Amino acid sequence: MLKTAGIHHITAFVNDAQQNVDFHAGVLGLRLVKKTINFDAPEVYHLYFGNENGSPGTIITFFPQENARTGVIGGGQVSITVYAVPKGSMNFWSERLDSFGINHEAISRFGENFIRFFDPSGLQIELVEREEGTPSRWSFNGIPAEHAIKGFGGAMLSSVASEHTMMVLEKVLGLHRVGEENGLVRFKGFGDIGNIIDVNAANANWGNPGAGTVHHIAWRAKDYEEHGKWRELLAQIGFQPTQVIDRQYFNAIYFREPGGILFEIATDPPGFARDESDEELGTHLMLPEWYESQRDLIEQNLPKIEVREVEGI
Ligand code: ZN
Repeated sequence: MLKTAGIHHITAFVNDAQQNVDFHAGVLGLRLVKKTINFDAPEVYHLYFGNENGSPGTIITFFPQENARTGVIGGGQVSITVYAVPKGSMNFWSERLDSFGINHEAISRFGENFIRFFDPSGLQIELVEREEGTPSRWSFNGIPAEHAIKGFGGAMLSSVASEHTMMVLEKVLGLHRVGEENGLVRFKGFGDIGNIIDVNAANANWGNPGAGTVHHIAWRAKDYEEHGKWRELLAQIGFQPTQVIDRQYFNAIYFREPGGILFEIATDPPGFARDESDEELGTHLMLPEWYESQRDLIEQNLPKIEVREVEGI
């Protein structure tokens, strides 16, 4: 049976582009590993943040659109994006969020402690200590590498048909059901990062897409051959997956699971070093070949952004 290792990336809507960079690079200390555009809407950035090289399981991506209407977190969405930090890092993060004036609360589930807060667009984020996962080698703006976010701890899903969503996680994606507690069911993938998915067992009311909500969650396929098999399987089940779409840094197929959440299967290769060296990741505006002839116009229409050290947001 095909099994995914876990999350490849999570993609969300936010509003202000510089604020997005200041928060996810400046406050959370992720590396901007790719600055490109929404291939379906070239007037909008597509920003990718991750560990030092944007490994699968560490990548959060954003479509920042000023004046975007605010979304409502709810059913048919990833409701919480969870990051894993090294053991012994929670005090550091709690104090760091305080120093930036970011409200946060302590949450416990499945015997783990989480810090929960919102990004400036309203995206719901948690940090949790995990033993698993390779430490990040990226250190920025006062975050020592020993406390840096390693990648996703996982995600919480809110579904409008949670029994169906859970069946997809277990029977289609090959995650293992490992626990149940207070109306949450926990699933685990075999990867060591982005591998723990908590699902609200009660059906949720539909959320509304918009700034501060997750657009889709992508699951890992280890190579192109496996990706093809995923597509065949999804078509067989009747999920009507899209054709394989070239996203430059991975290949993608999309389908909406019965609980309303947009799922993607993304390939681990080729990765972000495809068109920039490791040292220069995220420093140039990268366009796919078919947009190069419009580069001047595209650059004029995009707001200027920079990765910079920040003391507040
Ligand atoms: Zn995606």
